[in-house]
Amino acid sequence: MAEENQNQPPQPNSDRKTLDQRNQMTELERIRHSCAHVMATAILRLWPDAQFAYGPPVETGFYYDLECSHRISPEDFEKIEAEMKKEIKANNTFEKLVVTREQAIAEATSGRLGGLTERLGNASKFKLDLLKQIPEGEPISYFKNGDFIDLCAGPHVMRTGNIGAFKLTSVAAAYYKGDEKGPQLQRLYGTAFKNKTAMDEYFKMIEEAKRRDHRKIGAEMGLFAIDTEYVGPGMPLWLPKGTVLVEELEKLAKETEFAAGYVRVRTPHLAKEKMYKTSGHLPYYAESMFPKMEMDEHREARAKLQSRIAELEKQLADYAKKSQ
Ligand SMILES: [Zn+2]
Repeated sequence: MAEENQNQPPQPNSDRKTLDQRNQMTELERIRHSCAHVMATAILRLWPDAQFAYGPPVETGFYYDLECSHRISPEDFEKIEAEMKKEIKANNTFEKLVVTREQAIAEATSGRLGGLTERLGNASKFKLDLLKQIPEGEPISYFKNGDFIDLCAGPHVMRTGNIGAFKLTSVAAAYYKGDEKGPQLQRLYGTAFKNKTAMDEYFKMIEEAKRRDHRKIGAEMGLFAIDTEYVGPGMPLWLPKGTVLVEELEKLAKETEFAAGYVRVRTPHLAKEKMYKTSGHLPYYAESMFPKMEMDEHREARAKLQSRIAELEKQLADYAKKSQ
């Protein structure tokens, strides 16, 4: 039932973190999140109209969602990275400023918050919206590195120079707050590490994982074919060589089970919804399960036809009665 989702990018959670959750951020997460600020700084130097929304750390690095007149593509990465390097080399401190709500609203309205300078006529609309989400009574803080001021509760590393190594990795489209009716933003992903050795190891591991990907190996060895268009992801079509392997493994499993005194049973591949509720799959994995199967796709058409037949039969009976 479960579909493989290996091709999907890491799904970030745009929910606002509590202060407690923030304080639990690991050193690596702090480095990565700080790097998102540095990336925003670099982007603003290149495209000052950029508007930033969320910039959290994720499992493999960080991202920042932004709106910008320039459509960022991987060809821009080198240029952005060069500006980021300058900001890291400058070793600016991440300075925390606690402000009043009025000040924050005024500075977001002038475009200063979330920018390098005031940007008259270009209010920081996402920052204004994010300000609304900060509960009354919770302190509102900025973090400033160089000229860039961002609305952020932290935590960060002490200085931009603490970001030992980083790399921009991809760009994708994302909706503001994940709402498809909301504005579409550009999501720029990157990763960062304490030092270059750790980063090199990470990318080496990614390469190794690609090299060892069972989908690649399976295809190269002629074990199975995967046809995502006609069959579906994670649904191998076993070729003769692969089938031999599957059957040999089954044989071994059977022999081992018999030797251990087990007896075998057989169950259907599909079952009613009730079973998946009982097994506990449905409440938690519904999103990665195949949807419910309609057992009779012609039910509606047949029902219509049956009611029409009944109508005609009645007419016929009436007619027969009249003509008697
Ligand atoms: Zn921050």
